[in-house]
Amino acid sequence: MKIIHKINEIREIIQKEKQNGKKIGLVPTMGCLHAGHASLIKKSVENADITVVSVFVNPIQFGPNEDYDKYPRTLEADAKICEEIGADYVFAPSAAEMYPGLEKFSDLTMVCPPYALTDMLCGKSRVGHFDGVATVVTKLFNIICPDIACFGMKDIQQLHIIKKMVKDLNFSADIISCPLVREESGLALSSRNKYLSEADKKAALTISKALFAIKDGYQKGIKDTKLLFDTAMTVLDPMIELDYLEFVDKETFETVSEINSPTIAAIAAKVGGVRLIDNIIIGE
Ligand code: AMP
Repeated sequence: MKIIHKINEIREIIQKEKQNGKKIGLVPTMGCLHAGHASLIKKSVENADITVVSVFVNPIQFGPNEDYDKYPRTLEADAKICEEIGADYVFAPSAAEMYPGLEKFSDLTMVCPPYALTDMLCGKSRVGHFDGVATVVTKLFNIICPDIACFGMKDIQQLHIIKKMVKDLNFSADIISCPLVREESGLALSSRNKYLSEADKKAALTISKALFAIKDGYQKGIKDTKLLFDTAMTVLDPMIELDYLEFVDKETFETVSEINSPTIAAIAAKVGGVRLIDNIIIGE
């Protein structure tokens, strides 16, 4: 397995692989890989001949007061994980390689998903975040030209937006949705879990517990999302600062007041200053 830092170099490699008839799989990540990322890489290895894992902490998807500078960067350990799973290349460009000569991001041509999809859930408090995501994914797709690209259902709004972008802009990659991976405790795996103290982690566990309580309530016959919301609130640790807990239709992402079709209960909350997201699908 090789680590490639330069766009031209990975382009040449991919071109040769494609000439040899190889199917290319891409797994976009920001690194600090865990078992959630590993499941995506495994999926790509199983479904493509050549797997490229990109490891890039994308500055343009972070807000000014977010954790871009302190985001964990662990390339060596990441490469080891990729190699063990059977990936072929890690593409780890620098910020200057991806955005050369860019003093301010307002100078950059951006891919902006429709407002209706970004002015909700995470996009409401992370203004511009999904423009940054859509732009970097577009760049990665243009550099790697993948036949398939694997994304996790942990970032369910991101997945929805990427699928829409691929359809609207006629990208040829097939988007593979991969299930959310949790710790045994129920906590959704996230690179940001590294920031949590023991006390934070204990409180953070109540985020998934709240989602499981929603599922339980639904299975016991509660369909009214207001009641399900209240159930979840009784479970959340008081240390948790809720950003949102919303119920949206799995296909349209429109708000749901009564669950009659597959629905996503999505939550974002801060614990000890660390922003975590999680979701569960009910009514399937
Ligand atoms: P990130 O490095 O956080 O940008 O995530 C890269 C990819 O891994 C995204 O498609 C995420 O949805 C996916 N991912 C992150 N955490 C998990 C998880 N716990 N389960 C499944 N996929 C995940």
